Amino acid sequence: MNSLEVLIVGAGFAGSVVARELADAGRRVLVVDRRPHIGGNAHDEVDAHGVLIHPYGPHIFHTNSQRVFDWLSRFTAWLPYEHRVRSVVGGVAYPFPINRRTLNMLYGLDLDEAGAAAYFERVREAREPVRSSEDVVLNSVGRDLYEKFFLHYTRKQWGLDPSELKAGVAARIPVRCNDDDRYFTDTHQAMPRDGYASMFANMLDHPNIRVELGVDFLDMRRRGADRGFAHTVFTGPIDAWFEYCHGRLPYRSLRFEHEHLADTERFQETGTWNYPNDHGFTRITEFKHLTGQKHRGTSIVREYPQAEGDPYYPIPRADNEALYKRYEEMGERESAVSFVGRLAQYRYYNMDQVVGAALAAAERLKS
Ligand code: FAD
Ligand code: UDP
Repeated sequence: MNSLEVLIVGAGFAGSVVARELADAGRRVLVVDRRPHIGGNAHDEVDAHGVLIHPYGPHIFHTNSQRVFDWLSRFTAWLPYEHRVRSVVGGVAYPFPINRRTLNMLYGLDLDEAGAAAYFERVREAREPVRSSEDVVLNSVGRDLYEKFFLHYTRKQWGLDPSELKAGVAARIPVRCNDDDRYFTDTHQAMPRDGYASMFANMLDHPNIRVELGVDFLDMRRRGADRGFAHTVFTGPIDAWFEYCHGRLPYRSLRFEHEHLADTERFQETGTWNYPNDHGFTRITEFKHLTGQKHRGTSIVREYPQAEGDPYYPIPRADNEALYKRYEEMGERESAVSFVGRLAQYRYYNMDQVVGAALAAAERLKS
């Protein structure tokens, strides 16, 4: 028998939260990750120029869950941060999500809030039922805004037309009649003060937790080194666990192009600028906005969507979800394994939702 009771595959939010909860409850835990660092996609590090960056793309923490915020607050202090995005259309940077000011700038209008609401009411194309992401946007802002801000961004990001994606994808983006230009309106919006890597290190710093990096679970399994654990928590892609026996679940990937600009205090006015209609990338993020770091240079990242590469996004479509269900049913029959997280549950989860799912999974395991 292995003296470590629980094996956790993946040291991202899902794996680290479950590990800490079980360790606090007196269980002994081995966490393995094939990457050379903890934190999963939320990992951050200082680049060669001394700027704190997110190698796997910008991660902005926001939540309405007091429980999730309190739980994470055991491992980090916070730096308040409200994310703001501009969308560049026809060479002009507009406030995004679309709000009253976006309308007034774009169409040369002078609408007040009631006027903006009336404008949307006039141009919207009512859809019933609202099934796809195309339905969501046409139903709220009509065709011109759809084509300028959503259609091409979505095609680029997913390689699919908005009509081919479930409503939930575009429904992440609100439409506002007031001038609120924040990307999120959650009650808690803050970044870990000393970075994500430090928060994860604190989470996993426990006498009952051992971490092994650069270890691929699938190799462990081939060697039989996964035997002897009372339970396994898997946070990688669920289809990989089952050796793709029903076929591959599609995930969308990204290529990140990082760049440092020496002697440039500020590259852009807000954290992220979206480019729906131009370029191969979807957006540029400047990290110093997110982290509050002071530095005479600045570091930015461009995100190029692609089909191949590390799995980053489950693709919310009915057929993919049906395929996932088949794997989920197989998973439910495995009493010694739990599947937790964005890849294992095939859900377009934000970080706080993964923490919530991991806390729920840990509760089940403890009882
Ligand atoms: P992951 O972070 O993917 O962790 C899974 C881990 O398992 C990985 O480290 C992987 O190496 C490991 N693993 C997989 N298979 C194996 C194996 N066979 N053997 C060993 N290890 C294995 N959320 C927000 O709330 N705000 C944001 O601003 C935000 N921005 C994002 C931007 C991008 C570009 C992306 C891709 C995601 C973003 N997210 C954001 C979502 C966020 O990244 C996820 O919700 C969260 O990190 C998922 O945590 P996880 O533990 O489920 O998965
Ligand atoms: N979206 C868009 N235009 C934008 C921003 C977003 O069409 O300028 C759509 C697109 O389909 C995107 C989805 O809304 O994938 C969700 O956007 P979000 O910024 O939440 O994506 P994430 O940060 O998860 O990549």
